Amino acid sequence: MHYFGYKNGELYCEEVPIKKIVKEVGTPAYIYSAKTIRRHFKVFDSSFKSIDHIICYSVKANSNIAVLSVLKHLGAGADIVSGGELKRALKAGIPPEKIAFSGVGKTLEEMEMALSAGILMFNVESLEELEALAEVAKKLNKPAPFALRVNPDVDPQTHPYISTGLKKNKFGIPEELVIPIYKKAKENPYLKPVGLDAHIGSQITSIAPFKDALYRLKKIWEELINLGLEPKYLDLGGGLGIIYNEEEPPLPQEYAEAIIQEAKDLKATIILEPGRVIVGNAGILVTKVLYTKENISKKFVIVDAGMNDLIRPAFYQAYHKIIPVEETFAEEEVVDVVGPICESSDFLAKERKLPRVKRGDLLAVMSAGAYGFVMSSNYNSRPRCPEILVDGNKYFVVRRRETIEDLIALESIPAPYL
Ligand SMILES: *Cc1c(COP(=O)(O)O)cnc(C)c1O
Repeated sequence: MHYFGYKNGELYCEEVPIKKIVKEVGTPAYIYSAKTIRRHFKVFDSSFKSIDHIICYSVKANSNIAVLSVLKHLGAGADIVSGGELKRALKAGIPPEKIAFSGVGKTLEEMEMALSAGILMFNVESLEELEALAEVAKKLNKPAPFALRVNPDVDPQTHPYISTGLKKNKFGIPEELVIPIYKKAKENPYLKPVGLDAHIGSQITSIAPFKDALYRLKKIWEELINLGLEPKYLDLGGGLGIIYNEEEPPLPQEYAEAIIQEAKDLKATIILEPGRVIVGNAGILVTKVLYTKENISKKFVIVDAGMNDLIRPAFYQAYHKIIPVEETFAEEEVVDVVGPICESSDFLAKERKLPRVKRGDLLAVMSAGAYGFVMSSNYNSRPRCPEILVDGNKYFVVRRRETIEDLIALESIPAPYL
């Protein structure tokens, strides 16, 4: 469900024609729909209304501070994975007591920043990290609230690069080591065990892996209570999938129902860290056809957005629907849509049926709101795209296009080489 669609033969985001935005900002450009973001958040949030919960939006999916601010106004918290994301979340006005800090490699500086800010909890992923957190807490003389991230060893049946809850993944702590670590932490006055956490992967399209993980967590939860600890927050991570092509992910209501069934007797506050499901279908990448060319057996559509702008197809073999901005009933042909980057993996679509396009036509790469701009780079010295937020009949440039000057501003030629 999203608010991108054709009106009078051209693509709109909410009430704004895409062409109108492109005329001002050029291509390639990311365009987000505030109304879609709000809708997704509200549906997700209200699905859990029968149970105590906090929705900590996963900032890494789309960290533009305007997007964060839209979510903040709906009462969202944040799941962060770096000091940079902490700053963004705070800048957008998200209250620190709704921020959970995840990630396998938090630095001491990041922990200090987050503890001083007064975040809800640290999701800790190793014994060494916990020891480091205790040192930071001692230094600041402020006990650190934490949950251990369990690796429940369940297969989320998603792309291997986005599964995180298998034994072989670097994430979390193996189930059998979790209780001994809590026991150890119990003796340290600077460590406050406040919960338990897991996050098993991303773009998960069935409920079973979530249920399996929750089942494991419940057992540990009970052991924690037997130990005399008083866990309050049960963090189930993110990972709910979306429709890019023909996937059939569970509805948020179905996902919530399954969790509530299992968790309602625990007296826990449930924390959820959705990212993709909130913003994925709320954004598109608009790109312009530069050239078309035909080799003996293949036709290529060369566009001005490359893998540096949207890496998901190259990185995860991800599928993104591509549609023309101007509705057309031209004959369809099978093409590879490729970017200008000097890499063979630089494609947005392979063997894709598209209506015939010509130089100058605009294309919309759909479902690019999550892990799109945030994963973009300057490879090939390409300035990164602008980001535009549409809200009703208005739109705002919420990040301007980078310039070449921006790119080289941090570099210098040492005097001897001048
Ligand atoms: C990436 C991530 C999420 C969000 O995953 P989505 O698939 O976008 O919902 C949540 N929690 C943690 C710890 C993550 O690393």
